[in-house]
Amino acid sequence: MKHILVTGGAGYIGAHTVHLLLRRGYEVTVVDDLSRGHRHNVAPDRLRILPLADTDRLTELLRSKPFEAVVHFAAYIAVGESSREPEMYFTNNVSGSLSLFTAMARAQVSRLVFSSTAAVYGTPARVPITEDMPIQPVSPYGDSKAMVEKILGWLDQRRGLRSISLRYFNACGAEPDSGLGEEHDPETHLIPLLLRAVETGHPITLFGDDYATPDGTCIRDYIHVSDLAEAHILALEHLIGGGASHAFNAGTGTGHSVLEVLRAVEQVTGEKVPHTMGPRRAGDAAVLVADSNKLQSTLGWKPRYTDLRDIVRTAFEFKRKR
Ligand code: UDP
Repeated sequence: MKHILVTGGAGYIGAHTVHLLLRRGYEVTVVDDLSRGHRHNVAPDRLRILPLADTDRLTELLRSKPFEAVVHFAAYIAVGESSREPEMYFTNNVSGSLSLFTAMARAQVSRLVFSSTAAVYGTPARVPITEDMPIQPVSPYGDSKAMVEKILGWLDQRRGLRSISLRYFNACGAEPDSGLGEEHDPETHLIPLLLRAVETGHPITLFGDDYATPDGTCIRDYIHVSDLAEAHILALEHLIGGGASHAFNAGTGTGHSVLEVLRAVEQVTGEKVPHTMGPRRAGDAAVLVADSNKLQSTLGWKPRYTDLRDIVRTAFEFKRKR
């Protein structure tokens, strides 16, 4: 039985990954302070409510079982909030990670899968984005993740900590049969907000239609959360098998505009999405699409969800069940 520690396992992507780890026969312990995650996402007997800053208790926990690796999700994730509260983001995302890495070094746990983000690229000069393009984040959130990736580079050299950083594009969708889905508070992501607009009748504001894209709205790479969870399992297997450290883009390689997503929601729900067109949101790049060839060729990853409507359908199902 392989023991894995998952930080932030009560959150959206974390909970889906824990679910898949359990299905694959791993023994999982979750650390979460429940500041953003949900208690109902984790079975009580595997949840340890603990702040990342508590290095001593993390060390104790990591020493309590023969942990093979850590999957580190716990972080704040809202770009806009990070611009208003940069200290909070650097404290939690950077200092919190350092506390975890210190505990791992003390407990001699030397494999890590890290939740990074496409936001480390800022406004990229071209798409699709490859991993060797410049790291130029334009928000405290993106920079907090870039800083941790940089720290991981040093810990690889100086401590033998092998890590995979997965740079997520737009995670979305759900596992409705397992009771898992997206439940951010406040919700800022496009698909849940489109579904909410259908449900409540209150129009969603779309952030700009004057971008240099075919329909004028922003294009993003929407990756189903279960495909993302699968990438974490493959990353773990790579590290447990003695593989080297890497950073990988985690996206499908296909882009969809905001209006295309809106249309997919209308097709799935059979309802019109009430919406108004607003101004651009600060910091939004016109097009963010991954080149995920490195992830596919190195780890053998392949997205199962290739039709946006299937992704939206899972999010809709989850919302109906809640
Ligand atoms: N978006 C929008 N209205 C909203 C929320 C998002 O038009 O209320 C757009 C946003 O500008 C971006 C896309 O939807 O082009 C995806 O945004 P989201 O916040 O879901 O993810 P991000 O791309 O910021 O990671």
